[in-house]
Amino acid sequence: MHITKGGINRKLLRITVIPLLVAGMIILCAAYITFSKTVQAEVHRGLKSVALTTLHAYDEIDPGDYFVISDKNDYLLYKGYHILSGKYDYLDDIKKDTDVDVSIFYFDINALTTIKDEDGTRLVDTIAHPKVVEEVFKQEEEQFYERVRVGDKDYFAYYAPIHNSDGECVGMIFTGKPTNIVKNDIVNAVMPIIIIIIISTVFACFLCNEFSKELILTIEREKTFLGEMAKGNLKAELDTRIGKRNDELGEMGRFMIHVQKFLRDMVERDALTKLYSRRIGETKLKQVAENSKEVGTPFCVAICDIDFFKKFNDEYGHDCGDQVLKEIAEIFNHEMFKKGFAVRWGGEEFLLIYENRTLDQAAQELSQLREKIIAHELCYKEEILKITMTFGIVDGTENENVYQTIKEADKRLYRGKVSGRNQIVAD
Ligand code: GH3
Ligand code: MG
Ligand code: MG
Repeated sequence: MHITKGGINRKLLRITVIPLLVAGMIILCAAYITFSKTVQAEVHRGLKSVALTTLHAYDEIDPGDYFVISDKNDYLLYKGYHILSGKYDYLDDIKKDTDVDVSIFYFDINALTTIKDEDGTRLVDTIAHPKVVEEVFKQEEEQFYERVRVGDKDYFAYYAPIHNSDGECVGMIFTGKPTNIVKNDIVNAVMPIIIIIIISTVFACFLCNEFSKELILTIEREKTFLGEMAKGNLKAELDTRIGKRNDELGEMGRFMIHVQKFLRDMVERDALTKLYSRRIGETKLKQVAENSKEVGTPFCVAICDIDFFKKFNDEYGHDCGDQVLKEIAEIFNHEMFKKGFAVRWGGEEFLLIYENRTLDQAAQELSQLREKIIAHELCYKEEILKITMTFGIVDGTENENVYQTIKEADKRLYRGKVSGRNQIVAD
């Protein structure tokens, strides 16, 4: 069975998979932006905390002011009585523990730093970026920068002004992490979420696809079934799994099977008695005869006629005649169960086909059926009416074709009629 291209399948995919993919992309972007902001805020907090801790630690060592004593060639940065210039143990420990670089600027000159160039020389005595000098040193405001060039690297940086005890701004502290490391931190933090979102989106798309495929397959099966019925094939079979479904498609499938049965009954069965019609009876009889020839199993055919049926019509009305026909048909249906078929041959005549039975066996079963009819009491307008029938039965294998068989059965029925009715003639 093929799935119609460009049909419901594509439409279903379009309204499920595409929105899912778009939603996945939006969630992905939103997650990336939110997480990168969170990580950046975390880095900001870390840098500020390192800067404040460092300044606090210097104040603990010596609460005095920062100042510089210089001669022509060199200068020394002091904090109170302590020389800071050249003392890197504390700053290097911070760098080792936190991965954060620290610089102390005296005014705009980098006086102490953990940042080294390629040769391992510390980047002291360099001048701070003019923007930093303006915003942090002159305006005395702390600042975060996402990209500040220090040496040959970009830094994610925090700058804060340093004040002496008289409130004068005498320098700045810098704490920073290389921008590429911060970016890596962001990617590492966001990656698991990105992977989860991608996997969930792909999985949801896969489920949608599987669901729509299964749905379309069911619709295709129902379409094929209806197509066969439209062509007049009332024996087409609908996949049994559809009838077991609990959804609307299952219900549609069950309705279709009911419609098929209804149509088949209308075509194959006699409207009054619900027995097989003569046309279907003939076809069935031919099949039984053919099968008997192939496999070598016996079969028998009986023609049955209600005795003095006209009397029911004449004395009690046509409705009574119809009721007689219906009740006789019910007895036939009941008695022929698992033995063969009953056919309304015409008027008040019926044809019985006994499968896999010799004439003796069939005649015996027919005799039981006749007893049932004799014993049956038909109640019409509070009157009990009795019915008898005459039967002619023949061995189907003794004749060349079904028409001869029927002719012979008819002859026997006629003999039964002229010799007193209410009997079975089997020879
Ligand atoms: P016999 O014992 O010789 O068979 O007598 P009979 O009266 O049964 O046979 P006859 O052929 O004289 O009458 C059959 C009647 O059955 C004639 C017809 O009007 C009636 N008949 C045929 N089909 C129907 C039917 O569908 N409904 C009713 N009510 N009567 C029908
Ligand atoms: Mg008749
Ligand atoms: Mg009759």
